[in-house]
Amino acid sequence: MRLTKFTDLALRSVMRLAVQKDGDEPLTTREVAEVMGVPYTHVAKAVTRLQHLGVVEARRGRGGGLTLTGAGRQASVGRLVRELEGDGEVVACEDDPPCPLRAACRLRRALRDAQEAFYAALDPLTVADLVASPTGPVLIGLTDRPSG
Ligand code: SF4
Repeated sequence: MRLTKFTDLALRSVMRLAVQKDGDEPLTTREVAEVMGVPYTHVAKAVTRLQHLGVVEARRGRGGGLTLTGAGRQASVGRLVRELEGDGEVVACEDDPPCPLRAACRLRRALRDAQEAFYAALDPLTVADLVASPTGPVLIGLTDRPSG
């Protein structure tokens, strides 16, 4: 199973925000995009979705920026991935033209079960778990605020 780029980018953004310490100046969307080396518009879309999920808070104006919410820090990675990936199946049984086996396909059922097992393996992990050492220190080192 392969995650969409959108999901991966959203998770990367969340991980970067998760290593901000209390008292640090919040990062802006543009700064997150710069340190991740990805287009601003992609991060902006991911941030909007993460706000809707209650994971990220965005404050405008001077001193504003992005912060991870308390719920975001404790969020289950499995839940986030489910929300970000949507209801899609791993195979396109209903494409145009649809697969003639789709109404009675054992493979489809097995793949759905495998997809659920994939998410279930991520359920016990929280965002905070993802940034424990060694990932957190590496993230901080990689993503020092751009100078100038
Ligand atoms: S063979 Fe089964 S899993 Fe594959 S596309 Fe057809 S219905 Fe879906």
